[in-house]
Amino acid sequence: MSADLAISSPDTAAGHNPATEARHPHSAALAQWRALLGFHWQERLERITEFSLAYHDAEEAAADVSSGRGERLAARRRARAMLHRAVAERRALAEIETALSRLATGRFGWCEQCGGVIATTRLTEMPQTRYCPACDR
Ligand SMILES: [Zn+2]
Repeated sequence: MSADLAISSPDTAAGHNPATEARHPHSAALAQWRALLGFHWQERLERITEFSLAYHDAEEAAADVSSGRGERLAARRRARAMLHRAVAERRALAEIETALSRLATGRFGWCEQCGGVIATTRLTEMPQTRYCPACDR
């Protein structure tokens, strides 16, 4: 595994700052946002594990000299696909970790482009989002 697949716990990213939370538009729900992000974080982590194990199995199958050339080529393709998926999940996990750190610093729920408040409905769908719908286009 490469270094950018390293995992850090959301607990280290998400501190608690009552001063910034108090003047936040979503202040009443910050604990829920933290829980929702934590849930998504856990889910992504499980998928990374799953794809990493599938990658490992496919790599082994690709190196198995007792199987045919076609089989090994297919296993090699499968390994590559699993690695891509694991990396994509790792990127998504990093976005969640960034959202958790925005939560800790009172920047969660504000659009990073225009500075406007991101609607609750949008945050519920994508709690890791950095932008309002207008700026996301
Ligand atoms: Zn915006």
